[in-house]
Amino acid sequence: MSNTYEPIWSETLEKIRQSHHFPEDVFQTWICKTTLFKISDQIAYVCYPSMIIKTILEKPENKPLFEEALSSVWHEDVKIQFMDVKDMKKMAPEVSQRTPELVVESAKFNPSYTFENFIEGNSNKEAYAACLASCMQRKHLFNPIMIYGHSGLGKTHLLHAVGNYLAQNRPEAKVFYSYSGDLVTILLNAMKTKTVFGNKVEELKAKLCEYDYFLIDDIQNLSQSSSQEVFFTVYNDLIAKNAQIIITSDMHPTEISNLQTRLISRFTAGLTVNISKPEFDTAKAILKKKLEGSEETCLIQDDVIDYLASMYANDVRNLEGSLNRLIFSATIENPEVIDLNFAKHVLEAIPMIINVNNEEELTMKQIKKAVTRFYGLSYKDIEGKSRQKNIVNCRHVFVYLCREQLHKPYVAIGQELGNRDHTTIQSSYQRACLLLKKDEAFAMAIDKIKSILKV
Ligand code: ADP
Ligand code: MG
Repeated sequence: MSNTYEPIWSETLEKIRQSHHFPEDVFQTWICKTTLFKISDQIAYVCYPSMIIKTILEKPENKPLFEEALSSVWHEDVKIQFMDVKDMKKMAPEVSQRTPELVVESAKFNPSYTFENFIEGNSNKEAYAACLASCMQRKHLFNPIMIYGHSGLGKTHLLHAVGNYLAQNRPEAKVFYSYSGDLVTILLNAMKTKTVFGNKVEELKAKLCEYDYFLIDDIQNLSQSSSQEVFFTVYNDLIAKNAQIIITSDMHPTEISNLQTRLISRFTAGLTVNISKPEFDTAKAILKKKLEGSEETCLIQDDVIDYLASMYANDVRNLEGSLNRLIFSATIENPEVIDLNFAKHVLEAIPMIINVNNEEELTMKQIKKAVTRFYGLSYKDIEGKSRQKNIVNCRHVFVYLCREQLHKPYVAIGQELGNRDHTTIQSSYQRACLLLKKDEAFAMAIDKIKSILKV
């Protein structure tokens, strides 16, 4: 039997196992033995090896569980038809009426995202140097290059700079660039596109492996996707044939929930570099670069640039946004000069972070929801006893945010976390404070969750 659907079904079964709906022995003895034969017209044909299990599977309280789990893995609503192995063998091989062309297209590069337009500083010089060097070498020293950092700090810009540079200087190099969400769609479509011979995964792999540069933006979106299996094999083939892979992520790969361990270890096997917020001088240089050639340059006073660079440099997008806003207001209000007073008058009226939770009070429940979602865990996981690293980290973040944002007593936090003792919560909080200082990935996770909670 084709095992094309094997990864999909194992991910589905894992979801069912984690729901603890079936006792573990029932799961191991029976449920595990089922296989997914094929999915066609939103019907999944699942085979069971023996009639005994049929009654379990068909029960009204069980069947929807399978359908829900499979639909979420397959990213499409499907109904399940359970079948005996013998019946399945009788089924005619599926002949598709059409075999659509497999479209594998690299996204286009933004022409203004070049190395020349990128301002180097301490916060980004490693990422910049690694990307530039990768364009010069044919034998790639660092593979993959993994760039991680908050949003708005220039990751996408650097990937496009690689694409633009190669198009200009080494046009023979084949460059594939994709936002990882789009790559997931490409991978899943290939898995779903059926022909007489099965699906198009092999064809897709062959097409992707033709590229010399493989640039994947925001890899964190690959988590929670069954396409990881296919991606894993493509990835290995690309590395084997010395294609340069450059990946970006808004968090360290170890912090991406539901990313397979083997992918994490591969992503960090080359060169992992962080990109952080630009320091004051870099922020100023970025602003000056953006102003180059614009009419307003002479109107803007130096202390305005200092003001923007000190207020908005957490995110270069915000930095540029503040400058654009200023210029826009200046064209309407026509001031003689753009001085500090004018800048403050314009910008302080616009909150950069909109707090949507204004009327809603933050609660421990909301924090719990946000942290578990972020780590891809269930309440049961964090209330339970597991010492798995991501679960432990998730607890630390929860405790930390309940203390910092809500000033809750340790006892109350302990009750919310599976009735843990207050001393355990206290040491968890101390641990979180320590990790926050020395573990960049942990600090980023907290930042990200705070931004989700808008606190
Ligand atoms: P990310 O992908 O990290 O979220 P982007 O690459 O989209 O961030 O950058 C956001 C904006 O900031 C883009 O317009 C980009 O050109 C600009 N930018 C970021 N860093 C720099 C830099 N060092 N020099 C010049 N522009 C930058
Ligand atoms: Mg980006």
